[in-house]
Amino acid sequence: MQLTARPPRVMSEAPATRWGLRFWNASPSYNGHMTVVVRLPRQFLDAMIAHALEDAPVECCGVLAAVDGTIVAVHRARNTEASPYRFNIDPREYMKLEEAITDAGATVAGFYHSHTGSEARPSPTDIRMMGTFFGPPYIHFILGVADRDAPHARVFHIEEGSSTEHEYEVVEG
Ligand SMILES: [Zn+2]
Repeated sequence: MQLTARPPRVMSEAPATRWGLRFWNASPSYNGHMTVVVRLPRQFLDAMIAHALEDAPVECCGVLAAVDGTIVAVHRARNTEASPYRFNIDPREYMKLEEAITDAGATVAGFYHSHTGSEARPSPTDIRMMGTFFGPPYIHFILGVADRDAPHARVFHIEEGSSTEHEYEVVEG
């Protein structure tokens, strides 16, 4: 008897705009297999990308706050690994940030970190680290800055053993 392996998830490649963002519209699943999981004011997209470029080649990381599905704050965190290949947030720093976010009337929406030399999708290490405690509805933005001149952001849900790419909606503000 042979066990059937789950087929690999296929990441779609889509056209790029100024920051290499995918085009989107208001439809919840415009291409049939990605859904909008968060609204992201452009200033916070810019802030994450600025952080990624500042820290490159070391990976940057941070925590995202949201209210009603819209990101309302981006909190930089220290990558205790100070590594170009992985990141880690000190649990004490995370707890402080979570408290600040909650005190401000928001909730922790998820995390962001950069990939400074590889594709902007969760690595096996990311999946191992984040899948257990920060599965859906937590979101994970990965800033791709391997090409420093073409930074871009992708968003994922990470579960134990797998990740799923989703869509985000950039809103002005
Ligand atoms: Zn990663």
